[in-house]
Amino acid sequence: MAFPFDNSYVGLPERFFAPQAPTPVTEPWLIKLNEPLAAELGLDVEALRRDGAAIFSGNLVPEGAEPLAMAYAGHQFGGFSPQLGDGRAILLGEVVDRNGKRFDIQLKGAGPTPFSRRGDGRAAIGPVLREYIISEAMFALGIPATRALAAVTTGEPVYREEVLPGAVFTRVAASHIRVGTFQYFAARGDTDGVRALADYVIDRHYPALKEAEEPYLALFSAISERQAALIARWLHIGFIHGVMNTDNMTVSGETIDFGPCAFMDAYNPATVFSSIDQHGRYAYANQPAIGQWNLARLGETLLPLIDAEPDKAVDKANAVIRAYGERFQAAWLAGMRDKIGLAGEEDGDLDLVQALLSLMQAQGADFTLVFRRLSDLAGNDDAEPAFAGSFREPETCRPWLAQWRERLSRDPQTAGERAIAMRSVNPAFIPRNHRVEQAIEAAVENGDFSLFEALLTVLSKPYEDQPEFAAYMEPPKPEERVLQTFCGT
Ligand code: AMP
Ligand code: MG
Repeated sequence: MAFPFDNSYVGLPERFFAPQAPTPVTEPWLIKLNEPLAAELGLDVEALRRDGAAIFSGNLVPEGAEPLAMAYAGHQFGGFSPQLGDGRAILLGEVVDRNGKRFDIQLKGAGPTPFSRRGDGRAAIGPVLREYIISEAMFALGIPATRALAAVTTGEPVYREEVLPGAVFTRVAASHIRVGTFQYFAARGDTDGVRALADYVIDRHYPALKEAEEPYLALFSAISERQAALIARWLHIGFIHGVMNTDNMTVSGETIDFGPCAFMDAYNPATVFSSIDQHGRYAYANQPAIGQWNLARLGETLLPLIDAEPDKAVDKANAVIRAYGERFQAAWLAGMRDKIGLAGEEDGDLDLVQALLSLMQAQGADFTLVFRRLSDLAGNDDAEPAFAGSFREPETCRPWLAQWRERLSRDPQTAGERAIAMRSVNPAFIPRNHRVEQAIEAAVENGDFSLFEALLTVLSKPYEDQPEFAAYMEPPKPEERVLQTFCGT
């Protein structure tokens, strides 16, 4: 057996999903198998090498799989759709890894399902490669995210704005349960469904809460806490999700649905890449507030479970939503202290962080390089010209540096310890958007996956210097800059 399946979602009531097999394709070809991940999951790597093209295209449904499409709803750009669901994704089943952790194995782009509406159930190669690259980069950066197990081409065209090669992405997730999954049942007045889902989520993701006095309130609070921590981590590395609809927010706390997502180069809190986000709803700096808005929608679905008295339920849920704001702020500031090398805490730290960010914005400084070069500077005064060179007018950073050094003089760490700590949180390498686009273009135009492979190699060690790949640290030249990214739809 290639996969030691142990399926649980399929045991939930029938209205939670639609059984659905993948639709075979004409000429599957394996672009990539993530062998280390396959091994971690306890899969049969040999069998996957041999049959990967057939399995990951959906042509061969592995033994023990119980393929299904999950039902969910969601707010998309603020408007509610009571029925979305997996329109092009098929859950093959679940496996329990070597550490006893349960994971979903899902094919994305494996053909139509009862939730496809007008869609073709397929994915184009570009979004598949983007999701592969960025989810693995997130993993290496240490940020909770779904992972990439495999990518295949189908040998069939998909019709978008242009005709593109079709592909299927295999995703591994702690689960694919979304805020929108709760909304699906709540929108139908199906409180039993909401309760069954909440119980399942507690069992699978938050087992300690079974003992809680108010388990559903505790669940809401725990999900909020994970999202606060997650979104703070996004901001720390310049990540912009792009489509933070409630159907794209997990209850496990993993980043999911890498559509038009991208990393910011020059620091600007208003940065937006997604072609469909015309009003900047999901801009870089809006993400924490949108997280809170989405959690409020989750809280609404849980109200009947939180307290039998509606007013009390609302008060309790509101307290969680308020706490999210504080939790986010605390997580964000803690991470920013780490980024500038502060081990201790002082009242003025927030101002010091904000002064740097304001300067970076005014001076068009690259978000990633500033912090990496500051890490170098922490251990070596000779690195100051490189740091200053990140700013359009290098001299403008001197007053901030003086403040920073003055603050460091009162901080407990030695310079050597500080440099090491800073380098472990400030990456040298991120999936720069122009590099991602170049890798996709080479694959689409020439069937050349060497840039895709090179990017995966570089991004697997984002906190190491890797001098042979120094060019991958560089921001785009003006002519290389990518201003827009597109969804997979
Ligand atoms: P996404 O934009 O990928 O988060 O998807 C939003 C909704 O549209 C989900 O219900 C998807 O399953 C559905 N969807 C996206 N693309 C397709 C497609 N090509 N065919 C069918 N459904 C799709
Ligand atoms: Mg989605």
